[in-house]
Amino acid sequence: MAQETAFTPDIKFIRELREAGADTMKKCYQCATCSVVCPLSPDDRPFPRKEMVMAQWGLKDDLVKSPDIWLCHNCNDCSKYCPRGARPGDVLAILRKSVIQENAFPRVMGKLVGDPKNIWQALAIPVVLFLLILGVTGHLHIPEGQVVFSKFFPVHYIDLVFVPLSTLTMLMFAISISRFWKNITAGSGNMKPKAEFLPSFIETLKEIMLHSKFRKCDVNKDRSVAHVLVFYGFIGLAITTAWAVFNLYVLKWESPYPLNDQDIVNLFGGSAVIPGIMLTVFKLLANVSAISLLAGGALVIKNRLKEHGFETLTSSFDWTFAGIVLLVGLSGFLAQAMRLMNIPPVISYGTYFIHLVLVFYIIIYMPYSKLAHFVYRTVAITYTKMMKRDVEM
Ligand code: SF4
Ligand code: SF4
Repeated sequence: MAQETAFTPDIKFIRELREAGADTMKKCYQCATCSVVCPLSPDDRPFPRKEMVMAQWGLKDDLVKSPDIWLCHNCNDCSKYCPRGARPGDVLAILRKSVIQENAFPRVMGKLVGDPKNIWQALAIPVVLFLLILGVTGHLHIPEGQVVFSKFFPVHYIDLVFVPLSTLTMLMFAISISRFWKNITAGSGNMKPKAEFLPSFIETLKEIMLHSKFRKCDVNKDRSVAHVLVFYGFIGLAITTAWAVFNLYVLKWESPYPLNDQDIVNLFGGSAVIPGIMLTVFKLLANVSAISLLAGGALVIKNRLKEHGFETLTSSFDWTFAGIVLLVGLSGFLAQAMRLMNIPPVISYGTYFIHLVLVFYIIIYMPYSKLAHFVYRTVAITYTKMMKRDVEM
């Protein structure tokens, strides 16, 4: 006798997906062309056809537990060949965003950052916080004389905001990711992993570093270049920031070039004073990373502009992040250049303030923004490697 399976569609989830831009999913008639053309889909239970029907039926619980949606690199080869214009690549991107919101801790942050309509509220938080700190400490004014950013916003106040909040952010991120891990492992039912965690994780990192999966894209090959630039730009800036904090608080090195050279280090919210050659290496890495971020951000926007005709709220989410990435690099460079050129203090300090607000957005909202994809994807791919479900590169 055939076994009956009962599905409970989540109507609210379907509505949320459609409002987020996945309305095209209703056009899917399950021809499976997308699964055939996808270069990353495994032969056994391929995606994205099955995810399209799951989304149409509002099977939120199953989608939240699916590691498959994270194997997709949004190359949109499937969307190009879909005969119905259902845009499966974009639907998967919206599903990933929903999964991040679902696992987010606290959920309210997932909603705040995940919805581009809330961008002004999200930016207002650091603006108010910084103004409060400047006001309470008596720095809510434009300092006279040569432009020195630490006269306007002393480094120890910046650290007072970023160090505890970054720690809290990492804790929130860890809770969100542990929720995600619980979900995807629960999705496998009684199936046991066929490989160990560590080798699977190392293999995943290698793949990500080399961007080998991105290179499989046919339609959007340019995306891999933009992604590489942004990816390594962020890594470089994260290293310089960590290095700066380590030097300042652990090694307690003194700078032979106090104040002025410190500003370059502040490019990404860090602060440090380092002697001699170390400072040169440090500055070089910070600048090269910022250029990489700027170039990558510009390329992301250029590629997005090429994709005209698909104006959805999905792209608003991506646009928001691409815009913030570009602005954080641009404001960092401008602030540095304005200081060196001694541009009127009000403009220089204003640019620096904007830069700090954007840095706050990138770092403190990381577990809920597009940047979180990197961690979620790493975890999901590691798991699929453990389950021997991933396509070998
Ligand atoms: S998304 Fe398009 S290509 Fe994929 S199954 Fe549906 S109709 Fe076919
Ligand atoms: S966007 Fe690319 S990787 Fe994702 S399902 Fe479509 S073809 Fe596969």
